[in-house]
Amino acid sequence: MMKKKGEIDLGLGLPRASAVNRSTAWPSSRRPRHHPRRETTDGHDKVPFPKDRKIPYGEISQFSKRSKQMPREGSEKVVYMGKVGVKLAVGCAVAACVVASVMVGRRVRRKRAWRRVVRVLEEFEEGCATPVGRLRQVVDAMAVEMHAGLVSEGGSKLKMLLTFVHNLPSGSEKGTYYALDLGGTNFRILRVQLGGQRSAIIGHDVDRQPIPLHLMTGTSEELFDFIASSLKEFVEREESVSEHSKSERRELGFTFSFPVKQTSSSSGILIKWTKGFVIEDMVGRDVSECLQQAISRNGLDMQVNALINDTVGTLALGHYHDEDTVVAVIIGTGTNACYLERADAIIKCQGLLTTPGDMVVNMEWGNFWSSHLPRTSYDIDLDADSPNPNDQGFEKMISGMYLGDIVRRVILRMSEELGVFGPVSSKLHVPFILRTPLMAAMHEDDTPDLREVARILRDTLEFPDIPLNVRKLVVKVCDVVTRRAARLAAAGIIGILKKIGRDGSGGIARGKNEAASRSKMRRTVVAVEGGLYTNYTLFREYLNEAMSQILGEEIAPSVIIKVMEDGSGIGAALLAASHSTSSVDTIQIPYM
Ligand code: ADP
Ligand code: MG
Repeated sequence: MMKKKGEIDLGLGLPRASAVNRSTAWPSSRRPRHHPRRETTDGHDKVPFPKDRKIPYGEISQFSKRSKQMPREGSEKVVYMGKVGVKLAVGCAVAACVVASVMVGRRVRRKRAWRRVVRVLEEFEEGCATPVGRLRQVVDAMAVEMHAGLVSEGGSKLKMLLTFVHNLPSGSEKGTYYALDLGGTNFRILRVQLGGQRSAIIGHDVDRQPIPLHLMTGTSEELFDFIASSLKEFVEREESVSEHSKSERRELGFTFSFPVKQTSSSSGILIKWTKGFVIEDMVGRDVSECLQQAISRNGLDMQVNALINDTVGTLALGHYHDEDTVVAVIIGTGTNACYLERADAIIKCQGLLTTPGDMVVNMEWGNFWSSHLPRTSYDIDLDADSPNPNDQGFEKMISGMYLGDIVRRVILRMSEELGVFGPVSSKLHVPFILRTPLMAAMHEDDTPDLREVARILRDTLEFPDIPLNVRKLVVKVCDVVTRRAARLAAAGIIGILKKIGRDGSGGIARGKNEAASRSKMRRTVVAVEGGLYTNYTLFREYLNEAMSQILGEEIAPSVIIKVMEDGSGIGAALLAASHSTSSVDTIQIPYM
């Protein structure tokens, strides 16, 4: 069944006994009756002899078989046999002593190694500890950093990017809209039909395609021509089976999940590429414009009227279904969050915005940092070895890209320094070889002998025969890593709720209105998307548990987490719809 902290009994015993060890530990009930053993004071077994018989030394080893035909005392044969026998017996005894001491030595060494490994695990667990008190400190730090990031550009590690999205879908959107979702190795094209009533998505079709590797490092024209021609094919295919009047304008929302400095809700400038893309001529250029030009070049009549990232899409879909949705979080390969903020709280652009009310802020929370985050030497090494050291510190503790690699690093240390895994496998040195879905499969292995753990250790890390105790150890390491990740994500979410006064504590200036705020705590929905959260049950459970612990019994029922499947794509289509009629804010960017 599910393994939670405390259910994994590692004990201090040895790894499962080898065949040699088992032979030394013969259970007393199965020993032959005619050789009853007694323990001597030095711990060795000894065979007792009948007190009433004199037996020549040479016969000792033969005693049990020959006891009925004892040779007469004094015969030559007996004397000769005696000498040979004594030598033989002494030889055997010495050999037995040597074997026994080697085995005892091995046992002792293994026991010591196992104790050391358990100590390393305990230290790791302590380093990753997230008691509720510490999580509350993370909550406070998140709220404070959010505030700092809203006060001035560069005021915090949280960029707190403006999105110029003031109006989230209300449910009244109607018609057919397209969306493009480019955020990693795949891109998706969607066509969404909206029925004009909340939650009335009549249908949506999706086409998913991998981005050819050479296009990730080519020119912007090549990349966008590929996307636009795929879009054109998709539109033609869709419209060949459904009606489309020539007078109907085609509108598109573009989810582009890379750091962008938005200039309006439909335009923005690429700050830098991430996730393996390196297309230098794009940096500093308007992303929508690049796409719009490629669409025209490919002879497609379509208007790009929303440029968003995946968190904003998820928030849009959440809000479309439930208007109490004010926060969205992505927990997949990477992690990020956005939320609905009062425009007057965005101090860094006061006076520049032309539309009052609320605005969605893209936090880029993967880069959050606080001294309250529980950081271990493994995290420090992972960061130092990464292509972006000192960047995305929160993401490196939470997201699917990294969790498996933290586990690999702990196993590597245990294997190299403590030897419990047997000879060190060279595979363990390969960064990111233990991907997070594999780690999750080991963590959630519910077979009594942890067969799946053994299989993954064998197939992925090339450890051929790992004893059960060591498999349990691996499960425990996965548990520690995932529990910390999920609990920190929960603290991050509640930090946002605190910033907007929806955690029941009275906001950042805690104390004065706490009681009043508890009594009028509003229902709040947090939309979540991402493979780590949706596919990893234990991660989800740990996150939900921590939310309840931090918020407390009274407030927790008011905060609801809702999974938004395909939020990043469908949300873009919804925003294309809601922006097709609304006016659009713009701002001049001083620095580019
Ligand atoms: P992306 O974040 O790239 O848009 P997804 O939201 O689908 O894509 O998330 C994919 C990530 O989710 C993977 O990189 C992996 O880290 C994590 N993931 C996917 N499946 C599982 C799983 N079964 N268990 C744990 N993590 C998973
Ligand atoms: Mg995604």
